[in-house]
Amino acid sequence: MEVFDTIVIGGGPAGLTALLYLGRGLTNSLLLEGFGVGGQVILTDTIENYAGFPGGIAAFELVERMEAQAREFCGRIETLEVQEIIDIDKPLKTVVCSTGETFGAKAIIIASGAKARKANVHGEEEFKARGVSYCGTCDGAFFKDKVIATLGGGDTCFDETVFLSRFAKKIYLIHRRQGFRAAPIAVDRVKKIDKVEFVLDTVIDEIIGTKSVEGVNVRNVITNEKKTIALDGVFVFVGLDPTTAFLKNSGIAMSSAGYIMVNPNMETNIKGIYAAGDVTEKSERQIATAVGDATIAACQVIKYLDAMK
Ligand SMILES: Cc1cc2nc3c(=O)[nH]c(=O)nc-3n(C[C@H](O)[C@H](O)[C@H](O)COP(=O)(O)OP(=O)(O)OC[C@H]3O[C@@H](n4cnc5c(N)ncnc54)[C@H](O)[C@@H]3O)c2cc1C
Repeated sequence: MEVFDTIVIGGGPAGLTALLYLGRGLTNSLLLEGFGVGGQVILTDTIENYAGFPGGIAAFELVERMEAQAREFCGRIETLEVQEIIDIDKPLKTVVCSTGETFGAKAIIIASGAKARKANVHGEEEFKARGVSYCGTCDGAFFKDKVIATLGGGDTCFDETVFLSRFAKKIYLIHRRQGFRAAPIAVDRVKKIDKVEFVLDTVIDEIIGTKSVEGVNVRNVITNEKKTIALDGVFVFVGLDPTTAFLKNSGIAMSSAGYIMVNPNMETNIKGIYAAGDVTEKSERQIATAVGDATIAACQVIKYLDAMK
């Protein structure tokens, strides 16, 4: 079994930043990414709120730059999905991949991020990829001159609605309340787009169709009024779930929602196991906060490794 000082699990902004710092700290480190580096960032188009890029930067370019910089300092990246961590409380831990390959590590940084949450409405599963999508950048172009709904009230929903307005001829923004979690600037931007109609205090009861999406049955939660809106697609942006299923039974402390609990040094309850980015319990899940967490985690790992010598 090949043994590393540190293994980083996940190749989003947090994982890539951790690898950069670990490489510069002259540790022998490996990053394991299950599906292709970039994480959630590649699900969007332009990043406008990451410092250092006035005018914004294309999401894929930001990720390419992060990867290139991490590789500059000898960081090794392998496309492998981690299935479990064994001997987690021992000084030498073992990371098991879904291929059966195993790697040893003195320290581990978990940066496995989060995934789009399902709306859990009738028809959502049935019409997934047949009109139901969780990614505007990936699927927006399929909805040129079509009518769609975006579901949610946070920044992601509003930013993606702006992006989707390039393609769709009409967008219903459906939200269960009047107020939004999204930043006022994002809300104002959407309010200025004529083709967007707000459908507030409203939930989707069912996504309907035959071969693909043909409409949604919605209900006003205040008046209980029900109606059907004819449309071709539904983009769901209702939040995130942490990617921590592979850590089930690991003994790592998590919140009731499955986010990893860390202290200000990004240490978990298990010695030598750190976590960073969207996978941790925290208030703001952004690129900047993921990168910040990873910086702390990697610097702490370097101290931990020094103390082990
Ligand atoms: C549509 C959208 C738009 C966004 N827009 C912005 C924005 O404009 N500005 C901003 O700051 N933030 C934005 N965000 C949020 C931002 O993308 C996240 O906060 C950030 O990507 C978190 O980084 P991370 O590295 O912690 O996790 P992630 O980006 O989720 O990366 C985690 C990585 O871990 C991998 N992984 C998971 N499990 C395993 C495993 N078992 N084995 C190996 N690899 C694994 C995943 O494949 C993934 O690549 C947006 C998010 C979305 C979805």
